[in-house]
Amino acid sequence: MSLEVFVLGTSGMQPLPGRFLTSAMVRRNGELMLFDCGEGTQVSLKMLNLHWKRINRIFISHMHADHVTGLPGLLMLSSQVDRTEPLYIYGPDMLKEYIDANRRILDMYINYEIRFVPVKPGLIIDDEDFTVEAVPLLHTKPCFGYVLTEKDRAGEFSVENAKALGIPCGPMWGQLQRGMSVELDDGRVIEPSQVLGNPRRGVKFAYITDTMYLGYIADHVKDADLLLCEGMFTRDLAQDAYEKKHMTSSQAATIALNAGAKKLGLIHYSPRYTDKELNLLKDEAHEIFENTVLCRDRYSFEINNPD
Ligand SMILES: [Zn+2]
Ligand SMILES: [Zn+2]
Repeated sequence: MSLEVFVLGTSGMQPLPGRFLTSAMVRRNGELMLFDCGEGTQVSLKMLNLHWKRINRIFISHMHADHVTGLPGLLMLSSQVDRTEPLYIYGPDMLKEYIDANRRILDMYINYEIRFVPVKPGLIIDDEDFTVEAVPLLHTKPCFGYVLTEKDRAGEFSVENAKALGIPCGPMWGQLQRGMSVELDDGRVIEPSQVLGNPRRGVKFAYITDTMYLGYIADHVKDADLLLCEGMFTRDLAQDAYEKKHMTSSQAATIALNAGAKKLGLIHYSPRYTDKELNLLKDEAHEIFENTVLCRDRYSFEINNPD
């Protein structure tokens, strides 16, 4: 099983030609999960042929225009689709009012259920095989980062071992795969460890924007396979970043380093930098954390389970 991450936009504050506002989509197990939705998000979805109809969950970091103004358009587009499952939208308290007002003023008759979940710091989803944690960030408004962690799965079932042990093909195989021991007709008890390989570690993905540098972010994104993190400014503008409650790319790299992340993807660039100048953000981050990627719009990552 793999998890794919599509970077839909990389700009902060304002969309630019060739640089839409920061947003990302995760695809796993046929489920689509959207993180932030600024102007232009729909265009990238279309270009990547990602079917917005299949979006099951939307996570909003905070109520700044560059992270939410694409949402009414996306909801309008999906207003008349045939779907039976609800759409879950997670975000700060004010988000509900924003969605309700848009639906009312723009006459959106949405024929499926939208379930708004107000976010508090901590675990906001504890599903069968993954969790999502909301990390409180420090910005000019209440803001959350999101960390998606797959739960570890049982090791691979060895048909060879099962046959060698004389376990009949059937329900007992399933029980062992689910971690239960079984008793054979001859009285022998077989433990799952006798037929299962090592547990397979789930993957971890983190989406962190907008925030000033906080040391504790590294604890929350510890060992992330991919950390998408704002790296809005170069080092010479560290004071600006601090005052505006944003980060430099070096600070994003410091978080990745302290967290022991596998890969850092920079996002949410200041519009002051031309496309060429963005390399400065990468170079500065790279000095601190080697596996840094300067994300550009519609970059994608595939994260595989390290079996
Ligand atoms: Zn922003
Ligand atoms: Zn902001």
